[in-house]
Amino acid sequence: MIENARELLQKYFGYDSFREGQETVIKYVMERKSSLCVMPTGGGKSLCYQIPSLLLDGTTIVVSPLISLMKDQVDALLQVGIPATFINSTLTATEVRETMEEVVNGQYRLLYIAPERLESTSFLNQLKRVKVPLIAVDEAHCISQWGHDFRPSYRSIHRLREVFDEQPVVLALTATATPDVRTDINRILEIEEDNTVITGFARSNLSFSVVLGQDKNKFLKDFIKKNAQEVGIIYAATRKTVDLLHDLLVKAGVRTAKYHAGLPEAFRNKEQERFLTDEAQVMIATNAFGMGIDKSNVRYVIHYQLPKNMESYYQEAGRAGRDGLPSECVVLYASQDVQTQRFLIDQAQDRERIPQELEKLQGMIDYCHTESCLQQFIITYFGEPDSLACGQCGNCTDAREVQDVTQEVQMVLSCVVRMGQKFGKTITAQVLTGSQNKKVIDFGFTKLSTYGILKNKSAKDVLGLMEFMISEGLLLVNHGNLPTIYVSDTGKGVLLGKKQIMRKGVAVTKQIATNDPL
Ligand code: ADP
Repeated sequence: MIENARELLQKYFGYDSFREGQETVIKYVMERKSSLCVMPTGGGKSLCYQIPSLLLDGTTIVVSPLISLMKDQVDALLQVGIPATFINSTLTATEVRETMEEVVNGQYRLLYIAPERLESTSFLNQLKRVKVPLIAVDEAHCISQWGHDFRPSYRSIHRLREVFDEQPVVLALTATATPDVRTDINRILEIEEDNTVITGFARSNLSFSVVLGQDKNKFLKDFIKKNAQEVGIIYAATRKTVDLLHDLLVKAGVRTAKYHAGLPEAFRNKEQERFLTDEAQVMIATNAFGMGIDKSNVRYVIHYQLPKNMESYYQEAGRAGRDGLPSECVVLYASQDVQTQRFLIDQAQDRERIPQELEKLQGMIDYCHTESCLQQFIITYFGEPDSLACGQCGNCTDAREVQDVTQEVQMVLSCVVRMGQKFGKTITAQVLTGSQNKKVIDFGFTKLSTYGILKNKSAKDVLGLMEFMISEGLLLVNHGNLPTIYVSDTGKGVLLGKKQIMRKGVAVTKQIATNDPL
């Protein structure tokens, strides 16, 4: 069987060999075992159902939320001679009817549909007349409340399965599955946990770094100048920042395109095209840009502002270096961007999800403050525990000397305990540095033995130290209305002198950037 699959890989797609994981997934499908395929963006998930669709009798259904991409995907398949079509809200009722007739006649190997279709009983009834050996669920994390992009209509996928007399095999695919999400996908789609294929989240050609305490605009201009021959993407958190940055770079003579949901569709398409053809060297965009963009030579992805969580970050950063060549992924960190993200999270419709979103945001903040390998941090976050340090990220190549900061860390922990473990970072830093702030006095904190114990440091430095302690898991954050900090079990160990804490560089000198993002 796999020989046939390899022949098809060569014949239709022109590739000589499978990538890691593809063969195993195809094997599961052909053995009629429902399975979950977790591969990073660009890992080659599509082939895992496209090849079986050629080997199986009938029409494979692909459920995908990316309506704007369906046509491109179908066109690409048609171009290599694979009969495929799609049904989504961009078609008229007549077009849907005609396409369905063709599907029922068995004219297609693949049918792409948007999840909303599954809520239509008449659509499901029509499908009864189609032979469907395989249902591929793309972006499968959308089925989970724990995912970063939950879509209720994904829950109707079970209705699709029940339509057929002979149950189709299900193949779920995603790039962003933390253990919680994986468990959800397995449970909801009835996939045995053993039939999960996870392939290397490590993207060895990407070098990650976090820049703290620099003038962001100057950094950007210098970076782009230094990489004048290369193309890259700059992500910002808001439309307004995209517009402002665009103006800034255009004025600096950079060939710049921009993309966000507030721009007219025709303009967006034109800008995207300019970027895809290298006419524009830099694309400045919100997270509305990039889903399914298959541009191989993106040499860098810079996040001008903190992304909302690690899932989004890795997906967006992963658009760099799809051709396998060395590429850079940089986050420019400033503490006020945390406020921007908190504000955006607070605007969410679904109030119940807010604590969870805040926790995910904290993961992103931790990433920016860890002093361990950044690649390792990411991979561990996605549930692969035993990776090695990458040796090339900003932290691995940071030549500053390591210092013992155990004593300062103990002072902070002790102060947090004395303050009753129910206050936030800012006031804790004020207490430690001996501030005369009214709140500090009103709460009686000036009487604590830890009051002013770090008065030789600035509150900003102490805040930086606390961010480091949070990213190292010594302090934990309780996300209520106002986030508060408390001491973790590991932190308690440090207080008891059981663990030494080392930190890179002159202790507590990493400054948090304070420049206003334009
Ligand atoms: P994903 O859906 O996981 O983000 P895609 O399926 O879009 O990734 O594949 C990313 C790119 O890798 C595409 O250009 C695809 O043609 C290419 N690709 C996939 N499988 C192989 C392979 N076995 N050999 C070479 N290139 C491959």
